[in-house]
Amino acid sequence: KWEEIIEHLKVEHDLSNVSFNTWIRPLKVYDIIDDTVIILVNSNSSVEYIEKKYLLPLKVCIADITGEEYEIRFLSEDDNVLEELKSNPSESTVKKRTKSAAEKAGLNPKYTFDTFVVGGNNNFAHAASLAVAESPGEVYNPLFLYGGVGLGKTHLMHSIAHFILDKNPKKKVLYVTSETFTNELIEALKMGKTSGNESAISKFRDKYRNNDVLLIDDIQFIIGKESTQEEFFHTFNHLHTSGKQIIISSDKPPKDIETLEARLRTRFEWGLIADISAPNYETRMAILQKKIELDQLEKYNIPKDVLKYIAENVKTNIRELEGSLNKLIALYKLNHEGEIDIPLAAEALKDIISSDNKREVTPELILDIVADHFGITVADLKSNKRNADIAFPRQIAMFLIRTMTESSLKAVGIILGGKDHSTVKYGIEKIASEEKKDETLNNTINIIRKKINPA
Ligand code: ADP
Ligand code: MG
Repeated sequence: KWEEIIEHLKVEHDLSNVSFNTWIRPLKVYDIIDDTVIILVNSNSSVEYIEKKYLLPLKVCIADITGEEYEIRFLSEDDNVLEELKSNPSESTVKKRTKSAAEKAGLNPKYTFDTFVVGGNNNFAHAASLAVAESPGEVYNPLFLYGGVGLGKTHLMHSIAHFILDKNPKKKVLYVTSETFTNELIEALKMGKTSGNESAISKFRDKYRNNDVLLIDDIQFIIGKESTQEEFFHTFNHLHTSGKQIIISSDKPPKDIETLEARLRTRFEWGLIADISAPNYETRMAILQKKIELDQLEKYNIPKDVLKYIAENVKTNIRELEGSLNKLIALYKLNHEGEIDIPLAAEALKDIISSDNKREVTPELILDIVADHFGITVADLKSNKRNADIAFPRQIAMFLIRTMTESSLKAVGIILGGKDHSTVKYGIEKIASEEKKDETLNNTINIIRKKINPA
């Protein structure tokens, strides 16, 4: 394939033989790790130059030829990173890239039973999830998992899906959020209406009914909309009567989800309801240890008292617990001759502790939630990147900050990393007007608003 890729590059970019032979021909694929192709640059040429000139074209050519997107990392042949890679055989085995069933199902590879720490707060939910994973459709149907934000519901759901697919990759497993379910339904109905294209809705039904296992995450966001609940009701009945497994998560038990129709609520109570609560101190410590092991952070030798300090102070949200550890490492790396100690941990926890107690709607909170919702980082939102999967969430963040806090246009621009007045104004107006016309955007924004302000 590599030959094919570089030939393609040569043709597409009309490279002269001399350029091609000097820069491209000597490149060697050293390894493929996850989504990154590691390319060795011969020690006579400059990594910087090749990066600058050929990184993007190569990325495009790789995608053209393989049909998949990869990141590229260039390494010089005499780079010491190579040694590190070599000494870490689990990473440097060349993996063949065929998409696994789990990848196709959109599952996070890190969310498995192996990486899930069991404690008193979640052992019941964990046992129920494992039982369902071992015998889908046979034990508890539906399985309803509930608990507060960041306590591991999504992690458990992905674990179930991975487990089932690992045992039998042919099983049809579909994991979606209720937002995806709703937005896809809205689109299918719209297609049916505007172009008389009835097959859109039958396609939608095929997708959701033709499954052995359907997992719907965050059902509390199936809000208000009758047509969505109606469709979900039929999806549920269809799967349930044919003995297919349904797994649902929510922030509250069915009886407390006010916007949920009674007939759905009762169905959710047919199977097993399991809650996840906040972890105790020992479990929090165990989760930190597990994360250190999984992310290979042992090399930082984080002192025990620093870990204790984090576990003592971040109590109600495991995502924040993990976030504190990441922040600590990031601060340490920035802070060249510093040490990892309690003052540094206190610094890392500054924003987090405050949000643990009383949650005020601040621009920072909105940035966090928008970034998390779209699976990007706050740094992306503040950056100048212009690809749509970042620029669009950025405009939504501008809109929400402007409408949900007292921030002026100027303040919004500053919060978003220094955007000028006209950019901010344009972004906000664009979302405001599109939200009125576009039902799926409206649904998404309502969900994000609820995440910001759960009340
Ligand atoms: P929820 O869906 O309930 O909001 P998530 O499943 O997204 O929460 O969990 C938030 C983060 O915390 C994830 O990174 C997840 O891997 C981690 N996490 C949650 N519970 C555990 C656990 N018991 N063991 C290890 N990691 C956990
Ligand atoms: Mg979740």
